[in-house]
Amino acid sequence: MHLHRASMTRAVILAMGLNFLIFALELVGSYVAQSLALLADSLHNLSDFATLVLALIATRLASRAATATRTFGYLRSEVLVAFVNALTLVLVGLYLVIEGTRRAMEPQEVEGVAVIAFGAIGLLANVASTLLLRPHARADLNARSAMLHLATDAAESGAVVLGGILLVLGVPLVDPLLSIGIGLFTVKGAWDILSEAAQILVEGAPRGLSADDVAKCLKEVEGVLDVHHVHVWAISSTYHAASAHVVVPDQMVGFSHELIERMARRLREQCGIKHPTFQIEVAECGQGRIDSCPDGK
Ligand SMILES: [Zn+2]
Ligand SMILES: [Zn+2]
Ligand SMILES: [Zn+2]
Repeated sequence: MHLHRASMTRAVILAMGLNFLIFALELVGSYVAQSLALLADSLHNLSDFATLVLALIATRLASRAATATRTFGYLRSEVLVAFVNALTLVLVGLYLVIEGTRRAMEPQEVEGVAVIAFGAIGLLANVASTLLLRPHARADLNARSAMLHLATDAAESGAVVLGGILLVLGVPLVDPLLSIGIGLFTVKGAWDILSEAAQILVEGAPRGLSADDVAKCLKEVEGVLDVHHVHVWAISSTYHAASAHVVVPDQMVGFSHELIERMARRLREQCGIKHPTFQIEVAECGQGRIDSCPDGK
């Protein structure tokens, strides 16, 4: 619904603004308090801001029409964006781990009270943006995952505040250990996105689907004798494509048209394939195996 989308975008833009605000404030805080944990939380919020901006741009691009030279339009821009973004996050996470380790070996004076103050601002702003996205989370999958992410952000800021309290109490090594923890957490999350994006960029099969599944699906369609040379891949995370050679009994072209309709419906309903392409053959073409591409060599 158009109305819902408009208010959704407004909520995302507001959340973006809050993220940028937390980033800027905590960056100042990390300098004032000489705290690596605050810097870690600050950088995390900067990356969240960047993620939201890039996601908005990618959505815009993806809605552009396809052309004769870009026949899929910009559907895959979201994947490219996610890949670059996740790669940056892996580097940021590694920096936090390395710098945290260095400071653990050569501890520095950290202002506990300032860590508590700036961490609390981050916590409040994260809770606020979580509540902001909450009304949309029930209907929209993206909003739900964004909200879940913001909830873990709030937990992270909470950990920073807790760390500040421990610092005031005189517990050693809290700041570098928090930084290492946040760094590892960042690398883990980014790595998952990176491998998912890489799978799409190498034309890998969508999660939970293989060429064998597609072949099996097609072989169950009435009028199909055999299936081979199957490709299955994802243009974007929600737009999946497949192609296959299908061997059928010799027949009039009009009959094979109905068969193609049946196969397309089957792939759409059973495998979530939105863009199928079939090569109809009366005899095996010799490209025997299901999952090989002889032309790719
Ligand atoms: Zn975050
Ligand atoms: Zn097409
Ligand atoms: Zn063939």
